[in-house]
Amino acid sequence: MIVFDKVTKIYSDNSKALEKVSFEVGHGEFLSIVGQSGAGKSTLLKLILVEDEPSDGQVLFDKVNVHELPRRELPHLRRRIGCIFQDFRLLPDKTAFENISFAMEAAGRSDAEIEADVPHALDLVGLKQKIWSFPREMSGGEKQRVAIARAIVNQPDLIIADEPTGNLDPLNTFEIVQILKKINDLGTTVILTTHNKGVIDSLKKRVITLENGRITRDDEHGKYVL
Ligand code: ADP
Repeated sequence: MIVFDKVTKIYSDNSKALEKVSFEVGHGEFLSIVGQSGAGKSTLLKLILVEDEPSDGQVLFDKVNVHELPRRELPHLRRRIGCIFQDFRLLPDKTAFENISFAMEAAGRSDAEIEADVPHALDLVGLKQKIWSFPREMSGGEKQRVAIARAIVNQPDLIIADEPTGNLDPLNTFEIVQILKKINDLGTTVILTTHNKGVIDSLKKRVITLENGRITRDDEHGKYVL
């Protein structure tokens, strides 16, 4: 599904964020990427989302070089990817329902689809009872679950979860990881970045280790070695 072919990224100030990074992620895979701060994880995710360009090499999404796509096709690509962030990024003045329906409206979905799919997405993350609550009325774990519901509601092919448990306590971290696993079991590809050794050890899924912009390990069964 995703192919990185000798991808190098050098920023304008000459800092080398990625150096000849090559790997493939298959449909339905669950890949974790670990690395110290500055190792290149965010840069790698930004290249998948075409928020930045590689200096050399190619990034393919289903065999298409995403950095050669015409601008007008980028919204379509991005709709195939659901994103989850450490800081949740919910709209504070909107309820859970509105936060999720907003993403559906942006994707051109009908009112009938919104009425049907928002409760379904919240049900999947175990948060149906919070449908009319505002973010300020939710715990961190609940906010992240709404953010996950928003990320999955348009049925993306890929979920990118960038440090999704960075602001959560161990119990909520465990729950969020279980939800990501469930989404993956239902067929969606997941790419997760994390600093959390416990998360990696409990997942027992493929782990790529980045050090100074290079892949130093690619383990089939979760190992957090840093
Ligand atoms: P991580 O997400 O693993 O913390 P990043 O991808 O953010 O790593 O950063 C990798 C390297 O690239 C670091 O040395 C960082 O300072 C540098 N870097 C990241 N973004 C920029 C930028 N916009 N301009 C210049 N250097 C950057």
